[in-house]
Amino acid sequence: MNTFQAPKGTYDLLPPRSATFLAVREAIAAPLRDSGYGYVETPGFENVELFARGVGESTDIVTKEMYAFETKGGDKLALRPEGTASVLRAALEANLHRQGNLPVKLWYSGSYYRYEQPQAGRYRHFSQVGAEAIGAEDPALDAELIILADQAYRSLGLREFRILLNSLGDKECRPVYREALQNFLRDLDLDDDTRRRIEINPLRVLDDKRDAVQKQLGGAPMLRDYLCDACKAYHEQVRELLTAAGVAFEDDEKLVRGLDYYTRTTFEFVHGGLGSQSAVGGGGRYDGLSEMIGGPALPSVGWALGVDRTVLALEAEGVELDIPAATSVYAVPLGDEARRVLFGIVTDLRKAGVAADFSYGGKGLKGAMKNANRSGARYAIVAGERDLADGVVQLKDMESGEQEPVPVAEVLTRLRALLG
Ligand code: ATP
Ligand code: MG
Repeated sequence: MNTFQAPKGTYDLLPPRSATFLAVREAIAAPLRDSGYGYVETPGFENVELFARGVGESTDIVTKEMYAFETKGGDKLALRPEGTASVLRAALEANLHRQGNLPVKLWYSGSYYRYEQPQAGRYRHFSQVGAEAIGAEDPALDAELIILADQAYRSLGLREFRILLNSLGDKECRPVYREALQNFLRDLDLDDDTRRRIEINPLRVLDDKRDAVQKQLGGAPMLRDYLCDACKAYHEQVRELLTAAGVAFEDDEKLVRGLDYYTRTTFEFVHGGLGSQSAVGGGGRYDGLSEMIGGPALPSVGWALGVDRTVLALEAEGVELDIPAATSVYAVPLGDEARRVLFGIVTDLRKAGVAADFSYGGKGLKGAMKNANRSGARYAIVAGERDLADGVVQLKDMESGEQEPVPVAEVLTRLRALLG
């Protein structure tokens, strides 16, 4: 084993690319924060039972992809494969839903773990930003979330994404459809695994990516034809609100999504530049999830956007985010006295909110200036014995290359003025 190698299916985020990840997380979070969503953070692992019940025993996530383990104390835990079940668990545990201000609107950001076959855009450790609106049944809430995700992607400069939209019905109409679909599927030529799936979660069979399966699904009954009037009206309102907001979407009656808990509105954001891992995010309404994990009825809706794939989508579109240089001022001391003086100035600059860095390791002028360049700093301050004897430091404009002496006592005010 090479000890300097990250585990299979994982990768490290390092500068400068890591700055893009931070910017993507921030861009997704900003519209949520501005729309009444509060930040929630839950543990990286939960009791395995939460996901088994909440995500669904018949999903790939639970049956194949979960990092489940038993602790020395005998607790059965799992690294979180997704965020919704945990966030709902946390809200129920803290009784947020009893405080008379439904919906409880929360957003989160973090690492998720799935034991998958690693490939481009599909990792065993990945990162999501998500949002959940818990405890209200209102098409405007479904629309709000889709609009906010659209806004986030657009603010990043993404253009080549599409929004796929569908309704999965509710506890009135879905069971009728489920049975019709099961009757259709049972007559097909399918493997044992898929046959079992027909009995547990037949809608997932529609989601099967294999050609051999897709070919047989031609005449399958479609949920659209089974939606009850309430679900139809609800879905129509979501569509109207999105249209009124100028958010383009495509009706996709085959969109069922991989999780068991979705009801009514489901949606996915797909990007053309990602090959087969085209989903950059997805979500939907999960009116039954609270009861599935032992809580009261709490109709809710949410989404999770994949940060890794969003970064890949940006790269595919050739979008360069406008990320300001981390360092504004770089200090280059030549000699011990200069080290003392410039280190003091750097400390003062930082206290004043100016991003500043320092040439460490007693480098000579040439090496230190190379680092100053690399830091992206707009200005360098350089001082040697002779400058200090004159009571000045050299202030160098890294763009124009011009340099002028500035009295030590004025450096701070001068730089603050220059940097605005
Ligand atoms: P897929 O169909 O690609 O497996 P999913 O339906 O399993 O996606 P969700 O559970 O809806 O994905 O998660 C939301 C988002 O999280 C996805 O759209 C994707 O951007 C990201 N995501 C999910 N699994 C992975 C993974 N293994 N690696 C990287 N990103 C992922
Ligand atoms: Mg998946």
